[in-house]
Amino acid sequence: MGQARKRPNLRRPPAAALAAANAEPPSFKGQKNIYVCQECCGHIVSVDLDEGVTPFMIGCEATLTCKGWMQSSFYRVFDQKMRASHEWYKPPEPEIAAMSVAMQDHVRKGGLVMRRATGASEATAVTSGRERTTPKESKTDG
Ligand SMILES: [Zn+2]
Repeated sequence: MGQARKRPNLRRPPAAALAAANAEPPSFKGQKNIYVCQECCGHIVSVDLDEGVTPFMIGCEATLTCKGWMQSSFYRVFDQKMRASHEWYKPPEPEIAAMSVAMQDHVRKGGLVMRRATGASEATAVTSGRERTTPKESKTDG
C-alpha cells in the first residue's frame, strides 16, 4: 500500500509582508535609540521625530573633544520613557539648501538629521559641561 505522504504545509509569509520588508525602511518615528561611543564610551539618547533613515554610526556627540564614532543600539531601548538628549528630524527645505552636498544627498534619500533636543525644556542631563541653573519656582499665594 502506497502511503501518500502529505507535504508539510509550509506557511509562507504573505507576499505583501515580504514586499514591505524589502522596500520600505522601517519607521522608528517616536522611538528612542541609544548611541554608544567606541572611543570614550559616552552615550546619548536620541528620538526620531519624523519618519526616515538614521545612520548606524555617527561622530561622537557625548564628549566635545572626542573624535570617536558612536554606534547605534538599533532602537533596543527597554525604557522608552528615557529622556532623549538628541532628536532626529526631517529638515525643512531652506535648511536643506544650506547644507553640504553630502548632507543634502543624505536628506533627499530619506535621511534624518540630528540636533540637540529642543522640545524637552527640562533636558538638563546632557549640556556638555555648560551647566544651566534653573531658577527655583517661587510660589506666591494670593
Ligand atoms: Zn566619544
